[in-house]
Amino acid sequence: MWVDGLRKANSMRILIASSEAVPFAKTGGLADVAAALPQAISRMGHEVWLALPYYRANQPKITKANYPIHQTGVEFDIEMGEKTVTGELYWSEIPNTNVTVLLIDQPEYFNRPGLYQENGHDYADNCERFAFFSRAVIEVCKKLILRPHIVHANDWQTALIPALLQTEFAYHPQFLRTRSVYTIHNLAYQGQFWHWDMELTGLDWKYFNWRQMEAYGQLNLMKTGIVFADAVTTVSPTYAKEIQTPSFGCGLEEVLATHHDKLSGILNGVDTHIWSPSVDTHIEENYDAKTVKEGKAVNKAALQEQLGLPQKPDTPLIGMISRLAVQKGLDIIAPILEMVQRDAQFLFLGTGESQYEDHLRYLAQKYPEQIAAYIGFDEGLAHLIEAGSDLFLMPSAYEPCGLNQMYSMLYGTPPIVHETGGLADSVVDTTEETLKEGKGTGFSFKYYNTESLLQTINRALDLYEDKPAWDKLVQNCMKGDWSWSRSAKEYINIYQRLTHSPREAIPVSI
Ligand code: ADP
Repeated sequence: MWVDGLRKANSMRILIASSEAVPFAKTGGLADVAAALPQAISRMGHEVWLALPYYRANQPKITKANYPIHQTGVEFDIEMGEKTVTGELYWSEIPNTNVTVLLIDQPEYFNRPGLYQENGHDYADNCERFAFFSRAVIEVCKKLILRPHIVHANDWQTALIPALLQTEFAYHPQFLRTRSVYTIHNLAYQGQFWHWDMELTGLDWKYFNWRQMEAYGQLNLMKTGIVFADAVTTVSPTYAKEIQTPSFGCGLEEVLATHHDKLSGILNGVDTHIWSPSVDTHIEENYDAKTVKEGKAVNKAALQEQLGLPQKPDTPLIGMISRLAVQKGLDIIAPILEMVQRDAQFLFLGTGESQYEDHLRYLAQKYPEQIAAYIGFDEGLAHLIEAGSDLFLMPSAYEPCGLNQMYSMLYGTPPIVHETGGLADSVVDTTEETLKEGKGTGFSFKYYNTESLLQTINRALDLYEDKPAWDKLVQNCMKGDWSWSRSAKEYINIYQRLTHSPREAIPVSI
């Protein structure tokens, strides 16, 4: 049953809309966040709904994960430009929580091999697919007579929801008290479409202006979410500052600076039921801070064997799990791999741009003793890499939050990072001083270039040889608190503030 009768005092009704969430569908960090945040909020006593597209192609995975999906019989029609599209509601729940999952079914839009693209090409009707999904979220609320206090939209795919709530549905009796939050997980992906797609949003053309939905002549859904939401968050405090500057603002820095009063940064947490070396079901041997040495040795041997690297227990193993995109630092990593003159092994798990996939395959062939590359998406291997590596490589050019550096610290695997965004907010560079103070948790560099990265890798490898110092570093890493309850409290503060304040004033259209 998805509509609860009685509520505790002060508890809020919160609807989170996302285009992906674990285990229903995942392409990146958004899926981890969209699954963990609702659970953390629900544990704090609030009623939570999570709305997702029903990607039927993912169904076998879901059934395996024991998340049964139920039909509701609820259907709805949505005007999409000149046609009417029918959708249907399914529901599920995240076991052992009060989180109800609302699955929007529209097979023509969502029953496809990819979430957003196939063979490297975005689906041509992405605007239509996610405009439909955004409107469907509102239609489903109407059908279920759901009056959320907060609708929390995420990234461009659901950015239309805050706009609908501030315009077409502003005076709808069910949404009079509803406030919207919009979270930017990665500003680089903005949902930019040609202007005629404005028709698909169903909103009046008067909103297609430079202050609201238009940017550089196109319909821009990211901008739409920023402008219309009552509060905007992004996934780390540093990234919240960075995106107001031309270097990181991806053309929207002025929009963000204009709306800086409602912008804040909240670092993501880690779902420690899934990502913790003491309970992880994917790794060879579980361990904690006391047994880390033995535990890591077993996982390292298993990892080296699985990836075909020589099993050398004393050779430092540097792992990386990543989308293979320029954002993740691949352009500065590529030249380094042939420059490291040390006894070290490198291991890559990732998919992405073909130039990087090919380059890694080539290097793995050329240096089979030092470099291994698994080109693909493999959740189990990702866990084993966190557990079995000695160091984790994450020199992203920019990083809104990043999850893998937090996972790696929890697994006693110090990360090597570029000091940006969430990496700057979560990793403390190791110096003699920070190590002694119990604060140093990794290795970071300021200037994004190959030389700085190479120096930092060498600095990390030097410390690896100093066993007592290394053990201390590993202990520092493992005692960090990255739990979701910390982040969830910050979201709740924003939600509570909004429910007690009037709606964001919308700039007058021209
Ligand atoms: P982003 O969302 O920018 O891709 P994050 O670090 O925030 O980066 O999150 C990436 C998530 O996706 C992590 O959970 C990571 O383990 C996972 N991931 C990325 N690539 C792969 C892959 N090839 N195989 C398995 N998991 C992957």
